[in-house]
Amino acid sequence: MTEIIRSVRGMNDILPQMTPYWQAVEATLKRVLGSYGYQEIRLPIVEKTELFKRSIGEVTDIVEKEMYTFDDRNGDSLTLRPEGTAGCVRAAMEHGLFNQQQRLWYMGPMFRHERPQKGRYRQFHQLGVEAYGFSGPDMDAEMIILTARLWKSLGLKDIHLQLNSLGSIEARLAYRERLISYYQANHQQLDDDSQRRLLTNPLRILDSKNPDMQALNEAAPKLIDFLDAESAIHFETLCNTLRAAGVAFEINPRLVRGLDYYGQTVFEWVTDQLGAQGTVCAGGRYDGLVEQLGGKSASAIGFAIGLERLIALLEANGVLPDTPAPDAYLVAVGDAAVTQSLLLAESLRDQLPELRLISHCGGGSFKSQFKRADRSGARWTLILGDEEVAQQTIGIKTMATGEQQTLPWSELGAFLSTNHR
Ligand code: ATP
Ligand code: MG
Repeated sequence: MTEIIRSVRGMNDILPQMTPYWQAVEATLKRVLGSYGYQEIRLPIVEKTELFKRSIGEVTDIVEKEMYTFDDRNGDSLTLRPEGTAGCVRAAMEHGLFNQQQRLWYMGPMFRHERPQKGRYRQFHQLGVEAYGFSGPDMDAEMIILTARLWKSLGLKDIHLQLNSLGSIEARLAYRERLISYYQANHQQLDDDSQRRLLTNPLRILDSKNPDMQALNEAAPKLIDFLDAESAIHFETLCNTLRAAGVAFEINPRLVRGLDYYGQTVFEWVTDQLGAQGTVCAGGRYDGLVEQLGGKSASAIGFAIGLERLIALLEANGVLPDTPAPDAYLVAVGDAAVTQSLLLAESLRDQLPELRLISHCGGGSFKSQFKRADRSGARWTLILGDEEVAQQTIGIKTMATGEQQTLPWSELGAFLSTNHR
């Protein structure tokens, strides 16, 4: 026998028993975003490799070792998007969206060649949210308050906000020098990754997940002590607004984010319910990126939520949303009844577009069909046999009570709609 072909490692199917949860979560996210005036933008999954090199930065984990990059048939280097911000900025520049303020979101798969483990996959899904043309801390605050509302709407509890400011580019450069001297003075304590990053991207050492680096990183000079006056005021205003709005946070001076393009505000929502992969949502300001990609300077801020981690956390919190069972399961025995059942089902769907109705297909005895009806979790079983067809009636069994009644076809729609929900 030939072996079946399996999916690519780290790229998972989302099976029908899980998709209702995804749909319910996505619906809540979209509803909340709509309530703030955010609009959806749909972006290609493949972009030119150069876009990610220029935006994310050459010396980041993503660009160094995680991208799915390939040559197109005509020799162009293309990459499966590892994140959405770069493509969103690219689209906004290309279509003149930076001429006005924008509140945008997108949702879809991202690709990174990482070691697959719980909460870390090679194809995963993000909700990305970006706001363009807002330079003040009020937008930082609105965006973070929005994320807090997302958690509230989903019933999430075990999630905490960490905040930091990376300051202006000049402040970061001054800090970079200090950090390099600090790590150079403690050179023997650096792991291989950190030694490599020391001169290329020393801030990323702070983000190291190696527990052996913890103590050294905790004692490192803090970026927040190097902030320029403008960034300090921006950050303080943001903190005060969050306090006034009742959004609790912790300032984490080592929060630098994995991507190069951030400046000023950065934040992460983390949980200790998911083991090592505890960051569910991450974002920040990236005012410099648009210029870096060749556009006119523009303010930009955004965040991304890892949907696999979000859903895992909802599961861990025991608050996965209710998923809808069918309202009714229609069984039919006999040729005339089978044909009639399909017609009746169509007429019910015309009358009640929200009704979730399953018509039994595939024949079988009443007994075997009732078993299916039971297993479907439907609230009612609707029963059609030769006798019912002759009398133009239908049997209705309320599954919770076992109660049975018979109604004329003409009254079925009204019965289902008054008892529906
Ligand atoms: P991490 O430090 O966990 O690798 P990151 O800094 O690389 O995260 P971002 O690029 O900021 O992650 O992406 C935003 C969010 O997307 C993360 O907080 C996480 O929830 C999710 N995410 C990132 N990479 C993966 C992955 N490989 N599998 C599943 N979710 C991911
Ligand atoms: Mg990563």
